[in-house]
Amino acid sequence: MGKVLAFLQHLDGKVSRNSLEALKGAQELAAAEGHSLTGVVLGVDTAPTELSAIHMDELLLVSSPELANYSSEYYVAAMQAVLAAETPELLIAGHTYQARDWLPRLAYRLGRPLVSDCVGYHQDSDLRWVRQIFQGKISADVETTPGLVIISFQSGAFRSDDLAEGKPAIRTMDVDLSGVPLRVRPGERFQEAKGAVDLSRAERIIAVGRGIGEEENLTMIRELAGALGAELGSSRPVVDYGWLPQDHQIGSSGQTVTPKLYLAVGVSGAIQHQVGMKNSDCIVAINKDPNAPIFEIADYGIVANLLDIVPRLAATLKERQGD
Ligand SMILES: Cc1cc2nc3c(=O)[nH]c(=O)nc-3n(C[C@H](O)[C@H](O)[C@H](O)COP(=O)(O)OP(=O)(O)OC[C@H]3O[C@@H](n4cnc5c(N)ncnc54)[C@H](O)[C@@H]3O)c2cc1C
Repeated sequence: MGKVLAFLQHLDGKVSRNSLEALKGAQELAAAEGHSLTGVVLGVDTAPTELSAIHMDELLLVSSPELANYSSEYYVAAMQAVLAAETPELLIAGHTYQARDWLPRLAYRLGRPLVSDCVGYHQDSDLRWVRQIFQGKISADVETTPGLVIISFQSGAFRSDDLAEGKPAIRTMDVDLSGVPLRVRPGERFQEAKGAVDLSRAERIIAVGRGIGEEENLTMIRELAGALGAELGSSRPVVDYGWLPQDHQIGSSGQTVTPKLYLAVGVSGAIQHQVGMKNSDCIVAINKDPNAPIFEIADYGIVANLLDIVPRLAATLKERQGD
C-alpha cells in the first residue's frame, strides 16, 4: 500500500478552502489507488479544529520555530524532510498563491514533476492529470514518470462539502530548520484593504460586467447585493475603468471563485472570465443579448435589460424579506 500526502495550508487556525477542496481530491485518489492518506500541516502543534472531523488515516503536524510564519525556503526544507520520512506516491495541494511560490522550488529541489493547477484526473491503466490550457479552451491530459508526483488542484476542482468524515490519528514531527539559509525574507503579512472581500470564500457573488454602462449604476447592483447577502465581484473591464478595485476581478487574471450562487449581470462570459467562475454551483445570468456566451454555462438565464431587471429584483427580494 502506498501513501498520499495532502498539504493543508492554514492561517489563524483556519484551513484554506482551496486546501480542503484538494483534500477531497486526495481522499478520492487514495481510495481509488488503495493508498493511505496523511494530511500535513506545517507550523502547528495542535490541529486546526475543522480537520479533526475529516477522513484521513492520520494528520501529521510538523513543527519548528521557523515555520511560525510562511517562508518558501523553510516550507521547502520542512516538506523535503517530511517526504524523505514518509516516501509517498503523491503530494497533493490546493493551487493557492503560496503553493505557486513554494511547490515549484520543492519540485526543482527534488527533481520530480509538479503538475500544477489541475482540474481533475483520469484513472485508466495510469493516472493522468487534467489541466486547462489556452485560457481554458482545451483540456490537456498529463502523464508523469513513475515516482513521486506533486499535484496542485485548481480552486473548485473538487467540493469541500463532499469531504468524507472521519477522525484522523494525530502524529507530530519536529524538523530542525536552524541550518537552512534564508535568502528570501518574508515581509509583513499583507493586510487586505479595509472592506476587501475574500471572494474565494463567498457563498453568493454578484459579478458585474461592462454591461452596467456607467459607474453610477453600481449603486443598484450594491442594493441587489445587499438584498441577496452577496459579495460584489466583476469582470476585468469594470476594474480597468476604475469602477471597482482589482481584488474584485474574477477570471484568469483575477480570482477563481466557486460560490453556491453566481449572478452575472451584464457580463458577456468571455473565456478569461469563465475560467474563474464556471465551477460555481448555480450560475444565473442577466444579459440583453440572447447569444452571449455566458448563457452557455448558465443554469438560469434572464434575457433583459439589466437597468430594468436589477432594481425590480432588489425590490422583490426586499419585499419578501419584509414579509
Ligand atoms: C490575457 C487576458 C486576461 C484576461 N483576464 C480577464 C479576467 O481575469 N477577467 C475578466 O473578466 N476578463 C478578462 N479578460 C478580458 C476578457 O477577454 C473580456 O474582454 C472581458 O471578460 C469582458 O468583460 P465583460 O463581459 O464585462 O464585457 P463585454 O464583453 O463588453 O460584455 C458586456 C455584456 O453586457 C451585455 N449588456 C450590455 N448592456 C446591457 C444591458 N443594459 N442589460 C443587460 N446586458 C447588457 C452585453 O450584451 C455583453 O454581453 C482578459 C483578457 C486577456 C486578453
